[in-house]
Amino acid sequence: MNKCQVLVVEDDPPVRNLIATTLKTHDYKYLLAQNGEEAILQASSYDPDVIFLDLGLPDIDGIEIIRKIREWSNTPIIVISARSEDEDKIEALDEGADDYLTKPFSVEELLARLRVMQRRIPLLKPENDMVEKAVYINGKLKIDYVAGCAYKDNIELKLTPIEYKLLCLLAQNTGKVLTHKYITQKIWGSAWDSNIASLRVFMATLRKKLGNDSDAYIQTHVGIGYRMLKVEAMDK
Ligand code: CA
Repeated sequence: MNKCQVLVVEDDPPVRNLIATTLKTHDYKYLLAQNGEEAILQASSYDPDVIFLDLGLPDIDGIEIIRKIREWSNTPIIVISARSEDEDKIEALDEGADDYLTKPFSVEELLARLRVMQRRIPLLKPENDMVEKAVYINGKLKIDYVAGCAYKDNIELKLTPIEYKLLCLLAQNTGKVLTHKYITQKIWGSAWDSNIASLRVFMATLRKKLGNDSDAYIQTHVGIGYRMLKVEAMDK
């Protein structure tokens, strides 16, 4: 039995049933909520490990639900939105959601997103707080925060100050999709379009320096942002 407990918030019965059936088949424990009020009640009473949250609910706006939950919990939230709600999706990420699924989605997509979040859960526990640690290790990537250096395969990466800042920001949020706006605000203090254009350039040079397998570490979300993935431990 998979120990991960998932809260599914979705007002559309066929979609809710599809998710529930998928989770059941793959041995996840789950809770169901069909509106915002139930979602907040279930989230606060049962403290689920991961939340799937439909943004279009009949009673409370999905964004408002994220704000409320984030007041007391850092549980990974995967928002579910229709393709026409791209702006909402970005706003949801800026409000603290971790990832998104766009309708219509496949069962495989749903499970893949869930696995990424499951890898994120241990990183959120205070005793494993990577932000507090002096050294970050992810697969072949290592960041020594004290020395201010990053390494790949034990070879120091020659990063510019901005590339290094960018890498640290992604590392500190491993598993979470960061929007262009969020990143540019953190790096440059503002989110002008010119900064977003610069971000693309710095990201391209950072990727190049990380090497051929940079895609395994940094995921690009077209029109949305970037995410550092937790790379599975590899055998020597
Ligand atoms: Ca809906």
